[in-house]
Order: sequence, then structure tokens, then C-alpha cells
Amino acid sequence: MEIITHPHPTLSYKSKTIQRINSELRDIVTEMFELMYAAKGVGLAANQVNLPLRLFIVNTSSNAEEGEELVFINPVLSKGKGSEIEDEGCLSLPSVYGPVNRSRTIHVEAFGLQGNAISADLDGLLARVVQHETDHLDGIMFLDRMNPLSLRALEADLQEFELEFASQREGDIIESDEVIFAKLAMWEDKFCTQRT
Ligand code: ZN
Repeated sequence: MEIITHPHPTLSYKSKTIQRINSELRDIVTEMFELMYAAKGVGLAANQVNLPLRLFIVNTSSNAEEGEELVFINPVLSKGKGSEIEDEGCLSLPSVYGPVNRSRTIHVEAFGLQGNAISADLDGLLARVVQHETDHLDGIMFLDRMNPLSLRALEADLQEFELEFASQREGDIIESDEVIFAKLAMWEDKFCTQRT
């Protein structure tokens, strides 16, 4: 498992609802926390590790020894109130930061890793991270939320990521779209199909 970077196609893929929480999913979450802490992040969505599942993890302290480890499965956001512009970054765009307007407070409904229902009103950094990560599940990067002027300031940085991606494709380090989407379909079959 590794964190994929812009413009990997899985980052713009709309993740599917999870139907099964089992030990394999719990192992995936453990590995995601390890990757997130290693990268000093505060949140990580499943599609950032190339998995098309509606799941993300958060620890606003970005430190395994501190804060609280939160897992959100099939999150639904509502009741966004107020707005606030702050710089955001993303583990799929290391060292790139830009201003994003988000709701100041937000309500989230989701499931935890034990299948427990989560219902919470969030504010501060946690509200922002949960909005950023839920966007990932819909294939939306924070870039897509930036105004054109701020985005233009990042053009050179983004071009570097795009050139790097193209060269990794040439070198077969990154698989073809066909192979990537076939693997996503396999994961969906495993975790997102309804079985009777
Ligand atoms: Zn991100």
C-alpha cells in the first residue's frame, strides 16, 4: 500500500459504499494510519491509497502517540454553516498549499470500524479535515475547490506532478488506466456488493 499522488486517476474516482466491515478492512485501516503518520498527515482517504471505498481516517494531531484516531465509513455530511477560508494541503500533493473555502461547522453521519453509528457536529480543524476527506471520496481534490486566481499560482507546482506522473507511466511504474480500473472493480466486488 502506498499513497498515490496527483493526477493519478483513482483520485478523481467516486468511491463506492462499503457493505462489509471485516478483519481485512480493519487491516487496511491500520496500514492507512501507519502511512498517514509517516507522511505527517492529519487525514487520509481510501482512494488516496488506491482503494475505491467510502472510508477515511483522521487524527488531527498527526501523531500516533497523541490525539484521537477516527475512522469514518460511508460518511454523509449535512447542515454546513458559516464559511472560512484557510490554506489546505494534501498527502496526494506534497508541499502544495492553497486557500479553500469550507463550512465552519458541519454535521457528519457515518459508521465506525466496529459498525457503530457516528453522529456528530464538528467545528475547527476537524470540520475542515472531514470536509476535505469526504471530497476525496467523491473524486474531488482541494484544487477543485480553489478559485482560479489562487489555482494559477500553483500552476508550476502542479505541472511538475503531471510531468512526473507522465514519466512514471512511460516507465510502467504506474499501471495503465485499464489495469487500474480493473483493480478498483475487484475491490468493489470484495467490499461494496450486496450479497444475500
Ligand atoms: Zn487530501
